[in-house]
Amino acid sequence: MTHMMQWRFSAHTDTGLVRDGNEDSCCLEVGSGPPPFFLMAVADGMGGHAAGEVASNLAVETVRQAVQHWSLEWADPERVLAALGDAVEAAHAAILAAQQQPGQDSMGTTLTVALVLGDEALVGHSGDSRGYLIRDGEARQLTDDHSVVGELVRGGAVTEEEAMQHPQRNLLTSALGVAGLCQVDRLRLTLQPGDVLLLCTDGLTGLIPAAELSQAVDQADFEAVARQLVDLVNQRGGPDNTTVVAARWEKVSRE
Ligand code: CA
Repeated sequence: MTHMMQWRFSAHTDTGLVRDGNEDSCCLEVGSGPPPFFLMAVADGMGGHAAGEVASNLAVETVRQAVQHWSLEWADPERVLAALGDAVEAAHAAILAAQQQPGQDSMGTTLTVALVLGDEALVGHSGDSRGYLIRDGEARQLTDDHSVVGELVRGGAVTEEEAMQHPQRNLLTSALGVAGLCQVDRLRLTLQPGDVLLLCTDGLTGLIPAAELSQAVDQADFEAVARQLVDLVNQRGGPDNTTVVAARWEKVSRE
């Protein structure tokens, strides 16, 4: 009997019950390696009509294609993290350029990406979509919400629960496609067996508190997790588009 580690994945996106279209985009791409890696991304577009969808898709595709064309000199995670941050900046520039097209002048998007390489997770982030690490039954938010309310939470003026209902919760302080207002956070963490990485748009976090997330991912049928979380959002009214991309690192036994 040998024990091997493997990643399992779950992803789902849905329009919800109120919006006309889905302006979220996501990707989950598993590289064949060597070395093995995978890329997860979520983006929440804005800008009216079809423009939000264009922006979020352009953001995710720009990063996905950048990663495909890297020469995979993965030995140095710091270099990979820098390149991932550059790819998010490139997505911002691509959206600014695409704003010249009719109907797209005010489009923008959040973007949260995670590249997992061995036991390292490298994260690039702008906006109020979120990355979570769920470890030992506890969900820890990895990313700062780039929003007015996010700053109030970090300053202690507003609780997480109050933030979910706050009238200004949609006011972003950073996003791709907003000239002069795009801050890209880069972070790096070391993963452990049993960890779950979960990226999501605010359609999820507006209705599902962190404690409920950690319960939801703790089940044998991990592939169903993203779909079940989206269903839960829709049972609570589905006011927004919702997107979840998640991965769990598991130990498996082989004869
Ligand atoms: Ca949203």
